[in-house]
Amino acid sequence: MAQCKGKTQLYLDGIKHLVFPNTCLKCQVELSRFEQHICVFCWEMLQRTYFESYETPSAMDQLFWGRINISETFSLYYFEKEKPIQEMLHALKYHFKAPLGRQMGERMAQVILQSEKYKHIEALIPVPIHARKRFARGYNQSELIAEGIAQKIKLPILMNVVEKSSNNGSQTKRNRFLRWENASEQFILGKEMESYSHIAIVDDVVTTGATLEAMAQLLRSRYPTLQISLLSFAIAK
Ligand SMILES: [Zn+2]
Repeated sequence: MAQCKGKTQLYLDGIKHLVFPNTCLKCQVELSRFEQHICVFCWEMLQRTYFESYETPSAMDQLFWGRINISETFSLYYFEKEKPIQEMLHALKYHFKAPLGRQMGERMAQVILQSEKYKHIEALIPVPIHARKRFARGYNQSELIAEGIAQKIKLPILMNVVEKSSNNGSQTKRNRFLRWENASEQFILGKEMESYSHIAIVDDVVTTGATLEAMAQLLRSRYPTLQISLLSFAIAK
């Protein structure tokens, strides 16, 4: 009987592997049991920013100059089209890859921990998504990344401090000004948070910075002295 059960299990595992092969999102190579979602070679292909070790302002710092005062910024990789990072971010948004989000956050934390720059951050605020989107996606990808960070760096994740106001659809085809105007209308203040002096907003990928700027502006309107840092997995070049 036990042998029969064992055989059945092997058979089921085989079927499962055929239906859901454990392969790399980018190159389709079969993953070892030590790898998840992306193979080591594709991880190696991602282009690091090294913003954490910059002594002069990084491109990410400069993105917010003249817009809003931001304390520290961090992005682990550059976003590049046709590279594994595009598949990773796409899979995280549209292919129910919750563990991948936490894995991204953990990788960010490993680097963040090495730098003195980020040690004053007291809490994380993930960029919220609309409830309808969250329901369809099964999660908020920025929240998963924040969970991954918090697993390595013991920081509280503050939920509902800023909320998404309405679903205004995709922002990808709008110009920068319209996008900012649109972004600033997308958030509303939620519940009061404890008296933190330095928080970090967590996002998956930064492009124009409009979303982060809008969120930071809104937080400042309620907490004028709050120090705000930004942590993202990727940033567009
Ligand atoms: Zn690969």
